[in-house]
Amino acid sequence: MKPFAYVRADSLAGAAEAYAAHPGASYLGGGTNLVDLMKLGVERPTTLIDVSRLPLDAVTELPDGSLRVGALVRNSDLAAHPLVRDRYPALSQALLAGASGQLRNAATTGGNLLQRTRCPYFQDVSKPCNKRQPGTGCGARDGVHRDHAVLGHSERCIATHPSDMAVALAALDARVELYGLGGVRRVHAADFHRLPGEHPERDTVLEPGELVTGVVLPAAAAGLPSVYRKARDRASYAFALASVAAVLEVADGVVAHAGLAFGALAHRPWRARRAEEALLGAAPTEAAFEHAVDLELAQARPLRDNAYKVPLARNLAVDVLTRLARHREDA
Ligand code: SF4
Repeated sequence: MKPFAYVRADSLAGAAEAYAAHPGASYLGGGTNLVDLMKLGVERPTTLIDVSRLPLDAVTELPDGSLRVGALVRNSDLAAHPLVRDRYPALSQALLAGASGQLRNAATTGGNLLQRTRCPYFQDVSKPCNKRQPGTGCGARDGVHRDHAVLGHSERCIATHPSDMAVALAALDARVELYGLGGVRRVHAADFHRLPGEHPERDTVLEPGELVTGVVLPAAAAGLPSVYRKARDRASYAFALASVAAVLEVADGVVAHAGLAFGALAHRPWRARRAEEALLGAAPTEAAFEHAVDLELAQARPLRDNAYKVPLARNLAVDVLTRLARHREDA
C-alpha cells in the first residue's frame, strides 16, 4: 500500500478545509470499500481525512414528517431502525440484502452511496480500465461482462453500481445532503449517481471536496407499501444480478403513485420513469405492470453475455408490483 498521511476532522468545515489543503486526499468513513481498494492499489490517496467522529450518526424525525439519516449511521442500525422498518420497508430490506452482517455493522450510509463498482477489471491494476485510469480502455467490453450494465452504458464503460440501498433511496424519492466549502445542497437520490458517458471516472455528481452529510426520506413516501427484491448467484453476501425497489400507491382503483427503480442494470440506480408514467392512472393489474415494465426495458442494450438480465429484471419488477397491489387489496 502506498504511504499516506492521516488527519482527523473535528468539524464539517474542518474536513472540507483539510481536503482543500491536501491535494489527492480522500475522506474516510467506515472504510469498508476504500481500504480494500487502497490495498489493491486502485485508490491511492495522499491523505486520509477521517470524518468518522463527526456528529452525523443520528436518525431524526423532522417536523414535516420526513426522516433525516446522518451519513455516519451504520447500515445495520438503519436497517433495524423502527421508523425505517415501519415507514420505508424497502430501505430496510435493501440494506439487509447487502454485504454481510460484519460489513453492515461497519459500513455507513454515506459510504454505501460512495462505494465503487465491483467490475473485476477496475479492481485489477494490471488491466485496462477507463474508470480507474481514463484513456486506457475498457477490459470488460470484450471480456467477462456477465454482471455488467444493460441500460445507459457507454463505449467507455459498462460497469454497474453495486449498492442495494441506493436503489431503494431512488424509488423512495429520497434526497442526498451534501456539504462543501460552497455551502449545503440537496440532490435527488436518483440523480446522485451518473451515467458513464465520456467520463466513467466520475461515479457521482459530487464536486471535489464535497462530503455526503445525510439522506432525507420524504414524508410523502412514509407508510406507502414498498418492497426491495434482489436476484443473485447465492442467497447471501453477493452483489445483485438484478434488483428492484418499488413503491405503489393505489387510490379509487387506479395507480396514484409508483416509484420504481432497478439495481445492477446500469452505472447508477435506474429510476424507471417511463414505466411510472405508464402506470399513473392505470388499474393495478398484472397486464398493466407487464406493459409498463416492458416499455422501460425496451431501452436495454444487452451485451454478448448479459442478455439474461432483461427478462430477470422484468419478472422481478412485475412480481413485486403485483404483490404490492395485492398487499393493498388484502389490507
Ligand atoms: Fe473499467 Fe468500466 Fe470497463 Fe469495468 S466496465 S473495465 S469499470 S471502464
